[in-house]
Amino acid sequence: MAYPCGVCSKSTSGKYAIQCSACEKWNHIECINMNKDALKKIENENRKPDGNRWKCPYCTQSEVKTREKEPTLKDLMDRIIKMDNKMDELNRKYDEQVLLNKKLSDEIINLKQQVGVLKREKNYNDQKLLESNIIVSGIPELEKRKLLML
Ligand SMILES: [Zn+2]
Ligand SMILES: [Zn+2]
Repeated sequence: MAYPCGVCSKSTSGKYAIQCSACEKWNHIECINMNKDALKKIENENRKPDGNRWKCPYCTQSEVKTREKEPTLKDLMDRIIKMDNKMDELNRKYDEQVLLNKKLSDEIINLKQQVGVLKREKNYNDQKLLESNIIVSGIPELEKRKLLML
């Protein structure tokens, strides 16, 4: 029989049918619940050089099945090894970060000490400046008193 339907196995010649791009079987559009508008759209798509190629439900299903295949023991072991490596890497990064944090906090303590020293120096200088100001501004007062005492 020419072009038997992939679903009902009856001939598709002279009927509205569509060919699967994977298994190349023809299918009556009624057998795959497709209407004529959808068929036209797919035929237009098929005519484009880079258009989406239609696949029958059987081929689409088996593709999904291959994609969602149960992982083998080897796959699982590979995944565990990968995770172990990732954990090692994260642990290393954590250690590095801890070390870096320690370095930073040491630096902060050091800077705080330096700031403390500078503050003390500034206070000392301010004090000196204040004292010298008092002396300077005090002179006229002293002079006045001297004048009064005369
Ligand atoms: Zn059919
Ligand atoms: Zn197919």
